[in-house]
Parts: sequence; C-alpha cells; structure tokens
Amino acid sequence: MPSTQVISGSQQQARSIRTDGCDLCQSRDAVVVAEGSSAASPLVICTQCRLIYSWPLLSAPALDNFYEDSFANDPGSLQRAGDAFPPDDDRRKEETIAEQWSIKIIKRFISPRGKKVLELRARTGALTTILQAEGAEVLGVEPFQANANYARQVRGLPIVFDLPFSRFHQFPLPPDGRVDLVNVLNHHVLAHVLSPRKLLERIFAVLAPGGFLFLDEKDVLHPVRHKKRSALDSGPAHQFQLTLHTTARYIRATGFELLECELDPHRSSDFCHIRIVARKPQEGEPSPGFSPRVDVAEGPSLQAIHRRLWWLENTWRIRLARVRVKKKTQRILGRLGFTYPLTRK
Ligand SMILES: [Zn+2]
Repeated sequence: MPSTQVISGSQQQARSIRTDGCDLCQSRDAVVVAEGSSAASPLVICTQCRLIYSWPLLSAPALDNFYEDSFANDPGSLQRAGDAFPPDDDRRKEETIAEQWSIKIIKRFISPRGKKVLELRARTGALTTILQAEGAEVLGVEPFQANANYARQVRGLPIVFDLPFSRFHQFPLPPDGRVDLVNVLNHHVLAHVLSPRKLLERIFAVLAPGGFLFLDEKDVLHPVRHKKRSALDSGPAHQFQLTLHTTARYIRATGFELLECELDPHRSSDFCHIRIVARKPQEGEPSPGFSPRVDVAEGPSLQAIHRRLWWLENTWRIRLARVRVKKKTQRILGRLGFTYPLTRK
C-alpha cells in the first residue's frame, strides 16, 4: 500500500500543477493533494470539475502488468485465484448481490425479456444467469480470467469474454451492434479504467435510443466503518477516485438523462456505493454527446474535498480504535447476557 499522506488541507499547502488534461472536463489545472510514492502516482483534484485522479495515469501496458503481477483485491485476480476458480464464499456473495439487489433495480425500469444486454464486469456470471433466465440476450465482459472461466465452464455462459481494464472501452457487441441495457452494477468499473470518459462515450454510442445504463461506483469521501484509511489506499488499482457528484457529472456530460443517483442504503463495501440509473435520450430528444461543460454548482468545493480527504486520513486510527472498542464491548456484554446497545437478552 502507498506510504504517502494527504497534504494538509487546512493550511492551503496544496501545490498547483498543469496536467495533460482532466478526463472529465479537459481542464489542465489541478492541485496536488497527496504526493506520490513508489506504489502510486500523486493524487490531484481538477480545479474546474473537482475530479480526483492519479497523475500521471498509468500507461496501458503498466496497468496490465499491475493487474497480473500485484493486484489481489478481486477473488478472480491472478494473485488470488491462480489457475483455480474463485472461492465459493466470494461467489455466493456475488450471487446474493445479483439476486437481492441488482436484478431488482433493473426490473424497476425495464423488463429483461427480449432485450439485448451488455454486462461490463460479468464476474462469475451470477447476474448473467438471472438475466438469461428472464429472457434477455446477454454479452458479458470480465477482466479476471478465473471469474470468466467459472462463468463459461461451470455456469455454461460462453458469452462471457475476457478483456483487460486497459481495453474495456473496446468491448464486443451483438451482431446488429445495438444494446437495450448496459449493466455495470456487479462491481464498480469507472475507477479502474484509463478513461471513464472513453468508456461512457462508447456505452452511449452502442445503446439504443431510450436504452438504460445501470452503474455502481464507490464514493471515496464516504468510507465504511474502519475498512479504508482514505482514498489513497487503493494504490494504482483506482486511477480515478470518484464521488457522488463527479460520477453524476460524468454521466450527464456523456449526454445521459440521470434518473437516479444516490448513495445506496443497501450496498456498501469498504466505501458507500453510488447507484446510478441513466437513460439515453429517445430519438428526437436533445442528445448533446460528450460535453466538457459540466455543472459544478452542486457538491463540495475543492477545499472541502481536500479537507475531507485529510480528515479521513488522519482520523482513521481513531475510527479503527472505536470499532475495536465496540466489538470488545459487544463480546463482554454478550457473555454477561446483554446485547449491544445495552439491553437484556
Ligand atoms: Zn476536470
């Protein structure tokens, strides 16, 4: 994990730099909020749209090497699974999310029957199987081979294809080239690719007018419990550190109509998760394509984001200690016949 720390946001010590351009708004002006380390590039915030991103970004070959040689945060990654399938426990968690969360969100907006669906991160194919059973024609893309092998060999889903994150925007298409629904609920993707803008532009291009995008992302300003110290903990895996507002700006800038965008009360991991439902405008409705003119009226200011990152970084040990005390109290109370908070069993 990177050993750098967020530069104090309370003392205006942020250093201004010029990058090659923000992926979201193309502005070259940014401030450095965390210096780089041997494990990760410096972290910057775009002064125009407030996107938090690593600068310089990794090259495509460097990103591929990182996922092959170092990345172990996915049960299907080479470092975790090797030549085997991902562990049963992780697969069952994926199935629970697919059955109890993802499919319910999708069916609130569109019936899968007869629809062409593209899944970006099919994982081991839990939701793919449900969508097929509901009558959809599905294509899936998965960057980790152990997951894709399980989907193909155990679940019998030959329509799941391997594609590294560095080329995720080059996903395959059904024969007539149009899809009705793109699902990115299985696991967050935008933070992992080299250009969320390119990926979203391609998704927009291949969706039929009126087609839906369902997308999950993590909000780095809202870590859950004690699991993460700060946005820096992801190292090179997350080239982009997204928030509720910058994710919404990406979706709107691509030309989508944003139907839902909120922190989902039923989905969290190391961070709170953002649930996005968006629609490509129907034929005849205004569809501007990608517009770098993003609305930044809502959401925290650059200084507030910087202060929040610094606060999360510097209060992590306190939060961790609080969780440990709570767990210990629960154990002691349990032995005495009480539950936590304090009530008799
Ligand atoms: Zn920007």
